[in-house]
Amino acid sequence: MVLLLFGPPGSGKGTQSRLIANWLGVPAISTGDMLRAEIQAATALGQAAQSIMASGGLVGDDLVNKMLSHRVAQPDCRSGFLLDGYPRTLEQAGFLDRLIDERRLKKPIILHLDVPLDALVGRLTSRRQCPKCGRIYNLLHQPPKTAGFCDDDGTPLVTRKDDQEDVVKERIRTYDAVSRPVIAHYQDSNYHQIRGDRSPGYIFEEITGILEPLVSKNGAGGGGKPPIIE
Ligand code: ADP
Repeated sequence: MVLLLFGPPGSGKGTQSRLIANWLGVPAISTGDMLRAEIQAATALGQAAQSIMASGGLVGDDLVNKMLSHRVAQPDCRSGFLLDGYPRTLEQAGFLDRLIDERRLKKPIILHLDVPLDALVGRLTSRRQCPKCGRIYNLLHQPPKTAGFCDDDGTPLVTRKDDQEDVVKERIRTYDAVSRPVIAHYQDSNYHQIRGDRSPGYIFEEITGILEPLVSKNGAGGGGKPPIIE
């Protein structure tokens, strides 16, 4: 199955995508994480993406499409995958549609985490992430047990460069203008809107409720009882 997780920056896509992917046993592919890894590794793609990401804009469709198609051709994507942060433009959506057709995959399931835009700036500026395992914390709602360190592996947490207030505002503007229309492209398909302004545990429960019947129909992924999340 192909799952697309939509929502504005700060809507909780990263947190939910990890939970869903673990539960279903499919890879969670975040184009943002992939681009940050390219920057870290100082590749040509990373160098091209760096200043765009730092300003809150979108990296070019051709670059992102190429990166994505390379990733989903890997063997771990054979029985399905979850995309977080892609497609983000209508051009990317068209590219993905063609890729799905070519590979004879089933139509994607869309999960749209909707959060009022005025709640997002506070969420993003108080976000911290473990650079090692990628786990996401929020100083206001989900702080780590020991301030400043990852609960899972003890690594010092970092603030993403693009979580500074002026960049956050630009990312939200970009989302509203460019990415929100992508949702309309999928609205007639297997589309589910989920209120993202609740605790991660509630949201995940709603998502598993939506996916459970679809998972057994598709025969993809692990499924089973969702884990309890605080
Ligand atoms: P968020 O959704 O919280 O903004 P992401 O990690 O998904 O964070 O993306 C961070 C940045 O990476 C974006 O602001 C953009 O510059 C770039 N990016 C990620 N995915 C894409 C994409 N599909 N197309 C173009 N740029 C992207």
